[in-house]
Amino acid sequence: MRLYAIEFDSVRKQYRENIVLSRISFQIEPGEFIGLVGVNGAGKTTIIKCLLDFAGLTSGAIKIYGVTHTETDSRSKLVFLPEKFMPPYYLTGKDFLKYSLELHKINYDEHEVNSILDVLDLDRNALLKPVRQYSKGMAQKIGLASCLLSEKELFIFDEPMSGLDPKARANLKQYLLMLKDKGKSLFFSTHLLDDVNFLCDRIIILHGGDIRFFGSPAECIKQYKVDNLEQAYMQCIGNNTGEPVNSTVI
Ligand code: ADP
Repeated sequence: MRLYAIEFDSVRKQYRENIVLSRISFQIEPGEFIGLVGVNGAGKTTIIKCLLDFAGLTSGAIKIYGVTHTETDSRSKLVFLPEKFMPPYYLTGKDFLKYSLELHKINYDEHEVNSILDVLDLDRNALLKPVRQYSKGMAQKIGLASCLLSEKELFIFDEPMSGLDPKARANLKQYLLMLKDKGKSLFFSTHLLDDVNFLCDRIIILHGGDIRFFGSPAECIKQYKVDNLEQAYMQCIGNNTGEPVNSTVI
Protein backbone atom coordinates (compact mmCIF):
# COMPACT_ATOMS: atom_id res chain seq x y z
CA MET A 1 0.00 0.00 0.00
CA ARG A 2 1.26 3.47 -0.87
CA LEU A 3 2.47 5.60 2.03
CA TYR A 4 1.38 9.21 1.80
CA ALA A 5 2.78 12.01 3.94
CA ILE A 6 -0.77 13.31 4.40
CA GLU A 7 -4.04 11.68 3.43
CA PHE A 8 -7.50 13.25 3.83
CA ASP A 9 -10.41 10.91 3.19
CA SER A 10 -13.85 12.55 2.88
CA VAL A 11 -13.17 14.95 5.74
CA ARG A 12 -16.15 16.97 6.85
CA LYS A 13 -15.93 19.73 9.44
CA GLN A 14 -18.96 21.54 10.67
CA TYR A 15 -19.30 24.20 13.38
CA ARG A 16 -23.00 23.97 14.29
CA GLU A 17 -24.80 24.62 10.99
CA ASN A 18 -21.68 26.11 9.36
CA ILE A 19 -20.19 23.48 7.01
CA VAL A 20 -16.58 24.61 6.69
CA LEU A 21 -15.22 21.52 4.94
CA SER A 22 -17.84 19.51 3.11
CA ARG A 23 -16.03 16.41 1.81
CA ILE A 24 -12.34 16.97 1.46
CA SER A 25 -10.13 14.22 0.01
CA PHE A 26 -6.54 14.53 -1.10
CA GLN A 27 -3.20 12.80 -0.80
CA ILE A 28 0.25 14.32 -0.51
CA GLU A 29 3.34 12.35 -1.43
CA PRO A 30 6.48 12.43 0.74
CA GLY A 31 8.79 15.11 -0.67
CA GLU A 32 5.99 17.26 -2.09
CA PHE A 33 5.54 20.98 -1.45
CA ILE A 34 1.87 21.92 -1.32
CA GLY A 35 0.34 25.39 -1.06
CA LEU A 36 -3.15 25.75 0.36
CA VAL A 37 -4.96 28.85 -0.85
CA GLY A 38 -8.44 30.31 -0.58
CA VAL A 39 -10.28 33.45 0.46
CA ASN A 40 -10.43 34.47 4.13
CA GLY A 41 -12.74 32.03 5.89
CA ALA A 42 -12.35 29.35 3.19
CA GLY A 43 -11.21 26.83 5.81
CA LYS A 44 -7.42 26.75 5.38
CA THR A 45 -6.68 26.99 9.10
CA THR A 46 -9.48 24.52 9.78
CA ILE A 47 -7.79 21.97 7.49
CA ILE A 48 -4.55 22.44 9.43
CA LYS A 49 -6.36 22.25 12.79
CA CYS A 50 -8.10 19.05 11.71
CA LEU A 51 -4.81 17.59 10.45
CA LEU A 52 -3.10 18.24 13.78
CA ASP A 53 -6.12 17.04 15.80
CA PHE A 54 -6.63 20.49 17.32
CA ALA A 55 -10.19 20.25 16.01
CA GLY A 56 -12.29 17.09 15.87
CA LEU A 57 -13.69 15.89 12.54
CA THR A 58 -17.41 15.79 11.96
CA SER A 59 -16.72 12.76 9.76
CA GLY A 60 -13.99 11.30 7.57
CA ALA A 61 -10.43 10.23 8.29
CA ILE A 62 -6.92 11.66 8.17
CA LYS A 63 -3.62 9.82 8.13
CA ILE A 64 -0.10 11.20 8.49
CA TYR A 65 2.57 8.86 7.16
CA GLY A 66 -0.03 6.10 7.38
CA VAL A 67 -0.87 6.70 11.05
CA THR A 68 -4.35 7.87 12.10
CA HIS A 69 -4.08 11.57 12.92
CA THR A 70 -5.55 11.22 16.41
CA GLU A 71 -2.59 9.09 17.49
CA THR A 72 0.32 11.03 18.98
CA ASP A 73 2.75 9.01 16.85
CA SER A 74 1.28 10.47 13.68
CA ARG A 75 2.91 13.80 14.57
CA SER A 76 6.38 12.42 15.27
CA LYS A 77 7.74 13.39 11.84
CA LEU A 78 6.22 16.85 11.57
CA VAL A 79 6.69 20.31 12.93
CA PHE A 80 4.07 23.07 12.93
CA LEU A 81 4.11 26.84 13.08
CA PRO A 82 0.76 28.60 13.63
CA GLU A 83 -0.24 31.82 11.92
CA LYS A 84 0.16 34.04 14.98
CA PHE A 85 3.10 32.64 16.85
CA MET A 86 4.29 33.98 20.18
CA PRO A 87 6.72 31.92 22.28
CA PRO A 88 6.34 32.02 26.09
CA TYR A 89 6.87 35.74 26.74
CA TYR A 90 9.21 35.29 29.71
CA LEU A 91 11.85 33.27 27.79
CA THR A 92 14.72 34.79 25.87
CA GLY A 93 14.92 33.79 22.21
CA LYS A 94 17.87 31.56 23.02
CA ASP A 95 16.06 29.84 25.91
CA PHE A 96 13.08 29.23 23.63
CA LEU A 97 15.27 27.67 20.93
CA LYS A 98 17.11 25.55 23.51
CA TYR A 99 13.81 24.39 24.97
CA SER A 100 12.23 23.54 21.62
CA LEU A 101 15.36 21.75 20.37
CA GLU A 102 15.42 19.76 23.59
CA LEU A 103 11.85 18.67 22.86
CA HIS A 104 13.01 17.59 19.39
CA LYS A 105 15.97 15.78 21.03
CA ILE A 106 18.48 17.90 19.12
CA ASN A 107 21.59 19.51 20.57
CA TYR A 108 21.80 23.28 20.53
CA ASP A 109 24.56 23.94 18.01
CA GLU A 110 25.55 27.61 18.00
CA HIS A 111 26.85 27.43 14.43
CA GLU A 112 23.61 25.85 13.11
CA VAL A 113 21.49 28.35 15.04
CA ASN A 114 23.47 31.31 13.72
CA SER A 115 23.20 30.12 10.14
CA ILE A 116 19.40 29.81 10.43
CA LEU A 117 19.23 33.26 12.05
CA ASP A 118 21.17 34.57 9.06
CA VAL A 119 18.71 32.95 6.66
CA LEU A 120 15.84 34.63 8.50
CA ASP A 121 17.78 37.88 8.89
CA LEU A 122 17.27 37.88 12.65
CA ASP A 123 19.97 39.71 14.59
CA ARG A 124 21.93 37.26 16.78
CA ASN A 125 21.75 39.74 19.69
CA ALA A 126 17.96 39.33 19.64
CA LEU A 127 18.47 35.85 21.10
CA LEU A 128 19.48 37.44 24.41
CA LYS A 129 16.27 39.49 24.71
CA PRO A 130 13.03 38.20 26.26
CA VAL A 131 10.54 37.46 23.51
CA ARG A 132 8.01 39.92 25.00
CA GLN A 133 10.26 42.59 23.49
CA TYR A 134 10.05 41.00 20.03
CA SER A 135 8.08 42.50 17.15
CA LYS A 136 5.52 40.28 15.34
CA GLY A 137 8.09 39.58 12.62
CA MET A 138 10.80 38.65 15.13
CA ALA A 139 8.46 36.25 16.95
CA GLN A 140 7.57 34.69 13.59
CA LYS A 141 11.27 34.35 12.77
CA ILE A 142 12.18 32.65 16.06
CA GLY A 143 9.27 30.23 15.53
CA LEU A 144 10.47 29.49 12.00
CA ALA A 145 14.03 29.06 13.26
CA SER A 146 12.86 26.46 15.76
CA CYS A 147 10.98 24.58 13.01
CA LEU A 148 13.85 24.72 10.51
CA LEU A 149 16.28 23.43 13.15
CA SER A 150 13.97 20.57 14.10
CA GLU A 151 15.22 18.13 11.43
CA LYS A 152 11.65 16.93 10.87
CA GLU A 153 10.38 15.45 7.60
CA LEU A 154 7.19 17.44 7.21
CA PHE A 155 6.73 21.16 7.78
CA ILE A 156 3.20 22.46 8.38
CA PHE A 157 3.01 26.24 8.28
CA ASP A 158 -0.03 28.50 8.54
CA GLU A 159 0.82 31.64 6.55
CA PRO A 160 4.56 31.44 7.27
CA MET A 161 5.47 34.54 5.28
CA SER A 162 3.09 36.90 7.08
CA GLY A 163 5.10 39.41 9.07
CA LEU A 164 8.37 38.57 7.30
CA ASP A 165 10.31 41.38 5.63
CA PRO A 166 11.14 40.93 1.92
CA LYS A 167 14.76 39.89 2.57
CA ALA A 168 13.80 37.19 5.09
CA ARG A 169 11.04 36.00 2.75
CA ALA A 170 13.42 35.69 -0.19
CA ASN A 171 16.04 33.90 1.94
CA LEU A 172 13.44 31.58 3.46
CA LYS A 173 12.13 30.59 0.04
CA GLN A 174 15.64 29.66 -1.10
CA TYR A 175 16.20 27.72 2.12
CA LEU A 176 12.92 25.83 1.69
CA LEU A 177 13.98 24.84 -1.83
CA MET A 178 17.18 23.44 -0.35
CA LEU A 179 15.05 21.40 2.10
CA LYS A 180 13.00 20.20 -0.87
CA ASP A 181 16.17 18.90 -2.50
CA LYS A 182 16.75 16.92 0.69
CA GLY A 183 13.33 15.28 0.27
CA LYS A 184 11.46 17.22 2.98
CA SER A 185 7.73 17.94 2.62
CA LEU A 186 5.91 21.23 3.08
CA PHE A 187 2.21 21.89 3.53
CA PHE A 188 1.39 25.54 4.05
CA SER A 189 -1.46 28.00 3.77
CA THR A 190 -0.82 31.31 2.10
CA HIS A 191 -2.32 34.23 0.24
CA LEU A 192 0.85 34.72 -1.77
CA LEU A 193 0.37 33.06 -5.14
CA ASP A 194 3.87 34.05 -6.26
CA ASP A 195 5.29 31.98 -3.40
CA VAL A 196 3.11 29.03 -4.40
CA ASN A 197 4.30 29.35 -7.98
CA PHE A 198 7.91 29.51 -6.84
CA LEU A 199 7.86 26.75 -4.23
CA CYS A 200 5.07 24.30 -4.80
CA ASP A 201 4.65 21.10 -6.74
CA ARG A 202 0.90 21.39 -6.33
CA ILE A 203 -1.65 23.90 -5.17
CA ILE A 204 -4.93 23.24 -3.40
CA ILE A 205 -7.57 25.89 -4.03
CA LEU A 206 -10.22 25.71 -1.36
CA HIS A 207 -13.57 27.38 -1.92
CA GLY A 208 -17.10 26.94 -0.67
CA GLY A 209 -16.09 24.03 1.56
CA ASP A 210 -14.60 22.04 -1.33
CA ILE A 211 -11.34 21.62 -3.16
CA ARG A 212 -11.85 23.46 -6.43
CA PHE A 213 -8.43 22.63 -7.84
CA PHE A 214 -5.60 20.32 -6.89
CA GLY A 215 -2.68 20.16 -9.28
CA SER A 216 0.48 21.96 -10.30
CA PRO A 217 0.47 25.74 -10.76
CA ALA A 218 1.19 25.15 -14.47
CA GLU A 219 -1.79 22.79 -14.78
CA CYS A 220 -3.98 25.37 -13.05
CA ILE A 221 -2.97 28.06 -15.53
CA LYS A 222 -3.51 25.66 -18.43
CA GLN A 223 -6.88 24.45 -17.17
CA TYR A 224 -8.26 27.99 -17.00
CA LYS A 225 -6.55 29.05 -20.24
CA VAL A 226 -5.04 32.17 -18.66
CA ASP A 227 -1.59 33.72 -18.45
CA ASN A 228 -0.74 33.43 -14.77
CA LEU A 229 -1.69 31.79 -11.48
CA GLU A 230 -3.50 34.84 -10.14
CA GLN A 231 -5.86 34.86 -13.11
CA ALA A 232 -6.32 31.09 -12.82
CA TYR A 233 -7.14 31.42 -9.12
CA MET A 234 -9.70 34.14 -9.82
CA GLN A 235 -11.35 31.97 -12.48
CA CYS A 236 -11.31 29.00 -10.15
CA ILE A 237 -13.05 30.66 -7.23
CA GLY A 238 -15.40 32.44 -9.63
CA ASN A 239 -16.79 29.04 -10.58
CA ASN A 240 -19.67 28.92 -8.16
CA THR A 241 -21.52 25.97 -9.63
CA GLY A 242 -20.59 23.87 -6.62
CA GLU A 243 -19.04 21.31 -8.96
CA PRO A 244 -15.40 20.54 -8.22
CA VAL A 245 -13.28 21.36 -11.26
CA ASN A 246 -10.31 19.32 -10.14
CA SER A 247 -9.51 16.40 -12.38
CA THR A 248 -6.77 14.98 -10.15
CA VAL A 249 -8.48 14.17 -6.87
CA ILE A 250 -11.93 14.31 -5.25
P1 ADP B 1 -9.19 30.55 6.71
O1 ADP B 1 -8.04 30.01 7.45
O2 ADP B 1 -9.29 30.03 5.31
O3 ADP B 1 -9.27 32.06 6.75
P2 ADP B 1 -10.72 29.35 8.86
O4 ADP B 1 -10.41 27.90 8.75
O5 ADP B 1 -10.04 30.14 9.91
O6 ADP B 1 -10.53 30.03 7.41
O7 ADP B 1 -12.29 29.52 9.09
C1 ADP B 1 -13.24 28.87 8.25
C2 ADP B 1 -14.61 29.05 8.82
O8 ADP B 1 -14.72 28.32 10.03
C3 ADP B 1 -14.99 30.50 9.13
O9 ADP B 1 -16.34 30.68 8.76
C4 ADP B 1 -14.81 30.56 10.64
O10 ADP B 1 -15.68 31.52 11.19
C5 ADP B 1 -15.21 29.16 11.07
N1 ADP B 1 -14.57 28.74 12.32
C6 ADP B 1 -13.24 28.54 12.49
N2 ADP B 1 -12.99 28.15 13.77
C7 ADP B 1 -14.20 28.12 14.40
C8 ADP B 1 -14.61 27.78 15.74
N3 ADP B 1 -13.73 27.40 16.68
N4 ADP B 1 -15.93 27.84 16.01
C9 ADP B 1 -16.83 28.19 15.08
N5 ADP B 1 -16.51 28.52 13.80
C10 ADP B 1 -15.21 28.48 13.46
